[in-house]
Amino acid sequence: MAELEQRGDRTPIPAAWEYASAPESREIVKLEERYGLFIGGEFVEPRSGEHYKTLDPSSEEPLAEIPQAGPEDVALAVGTAREAFSDGWSAASPAERAKYLFRIARILQERSREFAVLESLNGGKPIRESRDVDLPLAAAHFFYYAGWADKLEYAFPHRRPQPLGVAGQIIPWNFPLLMLAWKIAPALAAGNTVVLKPAETTPLSALLFCDVLRQAELPPGVVNIVTGDGATGAALVKSEVDKIAFTGSTEVGKAIQRELAGTGKKLTLELGGKAANIIFDDCALDQAVEGIVNGIYFNQGHVCCAGSRLLVQESIYEPLLEKLKRRLTTLRVGDPLDKNTDVGAINSRQQLDKIEELVAAGEEEGAEIYQPPCRLPEKGYWFAPTVFTNVAQSYRIAQEEIFGPVLSVLTFRTPDEAVEKANNTPYGLSAGVWTEKGSRILWMAQRLEAGVIWANTYNRFDPASPFGGYKESGFGREGGLHGLEPYLDFDGAEAFGG
Ligand code: NDP
Repeated sequence: MAELEQRGDRTPIPAAWEYASAPESREIVKLEERYGLFIGGEFVEPRSGEHYKTLDPSSEEPLAEIPQAGPEDVALAVGTAREAFSDGWSAASPAERAKYLFRIARILQERSREFAVLESLNGGKPIRESRDVDLPLAAAHFFYYAGWADKLEYAFPHRRPQPLGVAGQIIPWNFPLLMLAWKIAPALAAGNTVVLKPAETTPLSALLFCDVLRQAELPPGVVNIVTGDGATGAALVKSEVDKIAFTGSTEVGKAIQRELAGTGKKLTLELGGKAANIIFDDCALDQAVEGIVNGIYFNQGHVCCAGSRLLVQESIYEPLLEKLKRRLTTLRVGDPLDKNTDVGAINSRQQLDKIEELVAAGEEEGAEIYQPPCRLPEKGYWFAPTVFTNVAQSYRIAQEEIFGPVLSVLTFRTPDEAVEKANNTPYGLSAGVWTEKGSRILWMAQRLEAGVIWANTYNRFDPASPFGGYKESGFGREGGLHGLEPYLDFDGAEAFGG
């Protein structure tokens, strides 16, 4: 064993490894110069008459012109969804609804390469992740909810589940297609129709998805896509929908909650996070290092459940940090379409500014910064993987969601201290625990205020598993049976009696 460790020490730092680039071809994606709004199964010109340009964040190259939907466009989309709901979709047999969901899932699988390239092109995420995570999971969500569509009576026995009507859905830019799948699949399975607004910076995969809907022959108006910025989202919140499902920042989530208070419209909010990834001294250290890297550098840290606060037991702080820093030197930052890339481009200029501002605050407050040597491309939006040590709990980098590839490291001595520090945040979305002791995992899980807790792994997702938060991370769940419930009305408890 000692010899092996010694040999490990002599291993050259793999930063010296050279890779030939392995770019995925973008030829498979055919972009329109200008898109319309998808309303009633057709692309229509926005009544607002306005368009904006969407970019490739890795090069700042404009990709296409996108409509900026105004309140009139949103009202048209909601009215169309309402007609589609009354004119057949709500009365369609559940097995019929399942048929469309299965078709969509299969078409996504068949066209997964095209979608993966587009997702990386418009969002900046590495093709390895779009191809191996976003696309398979998006298809899996449609398959999963297709399976429930004709079994709602069994899912909610004696409760007579009924669809709500029209669901307004607002999604962020970090997982554009996957968030669309999380929203649309349960809404349709429950018998609702949909108006969805993708994020301003990443509308293209939602617009390509309209082509999938046509291919699947989904009845017109059942799903409508309105593109635009925050004002379009605000118009959707104000419109005649029966429910809003929102994923995004806590600030906007609170504004939506205020707007809907007293209206009787249903609401689910999936908001920010500042998750603790907690490393005990008995864990498998090398696996933990991989889990830490996956926890914070996956998707450039643009992940609401990212393990952005690392809590390390004091006794292993030094060896862990040494391994982590060495591992960081092997991360390849660059072209999102290169299959070797681990860390792609930051999604937008605005997000890069936010990351830079918080990192500067971390340095000013006294934290110590580490970044591995890496050459960042000159054009586009980039930020090197970053680790902060010497972080106090009060620092902004330990409290605020950075939403970038930036890790703040803190230490603890006892499990109680780990729980206290982990819960010392306004958020409560996720956490990770690394230990070989099963009893400790359960002990921690009972005490951590987080909707999702991973043990000896991180950032694992499954459509059957509910996802969502506590405190300022929002309410309501997506995924699993729990994810159907917010899209249904129930006939009430009396059904239990008879
Ligand atoms: P937002 O919360 O602004 O965006 C999320 C979605 O809401 C987008 O579609 C956005 O449109 C839309 N939106 C914006 N304002 C309104 C409004 N008043 N009413 C209704 N919808 C609205 O997040 P940002 O993109 O501005 O990111 C800011 C920060 O939020 C990030 O740095 C990160 O910390 C956090 N965030 C968290 C996410 C999560 O998954 N929990 C996801 C994204 C961001 P548009 O894109 O046009 O602005």
